[in-house]
Amino acid sequence: MTFYKFKDKAEENLKIGKIICLARTYKKHAKEMNTVVTKKPLLFLKPASSIIFDGGTIKIPPISKSVHHEVELGIIIGKRGRNIPKNKAMEHVLAYALCLDITARDIQTEAKKNGWPWGIAKGFDTFAPISHAVLKEEVKNPQNLDIWLSVNKNIKQNSNTKNMVLSIEEIIKFISNVMTLEPGDLIMTGTPEGVSEIKKGDIIKAGLGEICNLKINVK
Ligand code: MG
Repeated sequence: MTFYKFKDKAEENLKIGKIICLARTYKKHAKEMNTVVTKKPLLFLKPASSIIFDGGTIKIPPISKSVHHEVELGIIIGKRGRNIPKNKAMEHVLAYALCLDITARDIQTEAKKNGWPWGIAKGFDTFAPISHAVLKEEVKNPQNLDIWLSVNKNIKQNSNTKNMVLSIEEIIKFISNVMTLEPGDLIMTGTPEGVSEIKKGDIIKAGLGEICNLKINVK
């Protein structure tokens, strides 16, 4: 069982539930992957066992030759709900976090080619580094936050959450029409452009506006 870390320890007993991830929510990232933004959101799941925290270490699995970083805004759910309408969506949000959706790109590419699911490419232990959580009351506008990531001090990803093609309300409505959202669930909202390979010995730093930071090692 893994629990969120909050800056102010307000909710230190909140268990991390299911991790629901979106794909292709930034046009420029869809383009760099030679794909397009889809009409309906693309969803996949990551296991909670892949979570690590600030200061942690990503372990490159021996069966992958190409592991990529993806920096993403995370939405932490605080209230259970299904079929949530857009105008009630924000009531279900408890907090935000900075998340990395680490991806074994070679394994994902093979899966895409064959029409296989992405569970292996996305699900290795340590493939979901997250920052401490920040209560939503402390975040003025979650859809206007700079989001960036550097590898060994070289900036690789540098965008703003306003470039997402979906609003937080639309995302919560869409997901909750498929599966019940429960307290502790985490939504990783997709990555902007600039994804690249990480290797043993790299140091990854990332930030979300002024609210969260991450420093992660690669081994
Ligand atoms: Mg992603």
